[in-house]
Amino acid sequence: MRLADITYPSLKNVTHFLSPRKIVFGIGSRKDMAKEIRRLEGSKPLIVTYAEPKLASTVEEIVKILHGDGMDSAVYSRAEPEPRIEVAENLATYARKGRFDVVIGIGGGSVMDLAKIASMSLTNPKPVREYLGVDLVPKKGVPLICAPTTAGTGSEVTMFSVLSVGKKKMDVVSPHIIPDVALVDPFLTATMPPELTAGTGMDALSQAIETVTSLAATPLTDCLALTAIQLTAKWLRVAYNDGGDIEARSGMALAANLSGLAFGSGKLTLGHSLSQTFGPVRKISHGVSCGVALPYVMDFYLPVIPEKLSLIAEAMGVETRGLPVSEAAKAGIRFVVRLVEDVGIPVSLKALGFEKGEMAELAETCVKEWPRPNSPRELTGGAVREVFEKMWEGRVLT
Ligand code: NAD
Repeated sequence: MRLADITYPSLKNVTHFLSPRKIVFGIGSRKDMAKEIRRLEGSKPLIVTYAEPKLASTVEEIVKILHGDGMDSAVYSRAEPEPRIEVAENLATYARKGRFDVVIGIGGGSVMDLAKIASMSLTNPKPVREYLGVDLVPKKGVPLICAPTTAGTGSEVTMFSVLSVGKKKMDVVSPHIIPDVALVDPFLTATMPPELTAGTGMDALSQAIETVTSLAATPLTDCLALTAIQLTAKWLRVAYNDGGDIEARSGMALAANLSGLAFGSGKLTLGHSLSQTFGPVRKISHGVSCGVALPYVMDFYLPVIPEKLSLIAEAMGVETRGLPVSEAAKAGIRFVVRLVEDVGIPVSLKALGFEKGEMAELAETCVKEWPRPNSPRELTGGAVREVFEKMWEGRVLT
């Protein structure tokens, strides 16, 4: 199967592709932080991060680099994983009081999503909760640089900020919060422990695979997503088994970045709906819940887009020569099951402590809260319930 043989429903309409103005990628690129701030005409930086001991020396190093360039930065280190709206409001107040003219996010998706809020709040005066939704941010924020320390979300290149509102996740979605610079230094991810490497890597892979399945996918998003898939298949196990392998860390940092660029315009499908429904119920991290759901999503889409799934299999390096398209697609699904297991993520909801009786309610919530207009197969209550039941039992391709 070749990309050129795919028919893209999206190309019947006008398509848009959004991305940051600049992506700085490579080991040591963190040292360019002061240069990038100056280029953006910033002089009073706010650094947003979390109190993560493993990142303390990284933040210290960047503060020193900025100080050496004559910039005294303030550090807001009260970010938290899967940040609550209350933390976002607190940060907005802090940022407005400090009148910063540039914001730097140093952390994973949670930190970068908060950095977007800080940047936006410096030019938009309302409480953050009033900007939750699509295209509700009237003005671009102050210049924003995001430096990821995980390799998963690709938030450094997207127009989303995901916040926890009560038990729900809600997004600020606006082109005005896309970072001006994504500064991706794989060195910053080298301190991630194996479980975090696994979960975040699965997030990158899910985003990329879901984008390929999406009706909004374009040849451009597919090029990016398939390369992200290829890199994850090659490097995730290596990074998981040897966190100090900087080549593997670079491969995964690039995979996450390309995955963010892809899904930002190509859009997600069923996987993130499933994971965002069951993940918060048992406080399972975003990436791990994405990994659990991924094989079932591919299985669900097999009857409608076998060609796309066979392209995914080929990108992962699965031997597909001579196989009919649907067999090639199935081989790709089996590859993903093995990858999920190899990085220590369970492939069933039963193994995560769920009861079978919970599946009906989860399916109902999923369909109501997370509709996916770009899903290539209709997400009816019955169909999603069946996916949840298969996921509970750990039944893929049967
Ligand atoms: P995270 O930012 O929530 O961090 C998880 C944990 O990793 C934290 O406890 C943190 O202290 C630790 N950590 C981070 N970097 C580390 C490092 N280098 N070494 C050791 N520990 C480190 O994790 P994440 O998976 O990157 O982000 C998840 C969040 O991003 C979720 O809220 C999710 O909804 C959101 N998200 C946003 C987008 C987007 O486009 N904006 C996309 C996908 C996900």
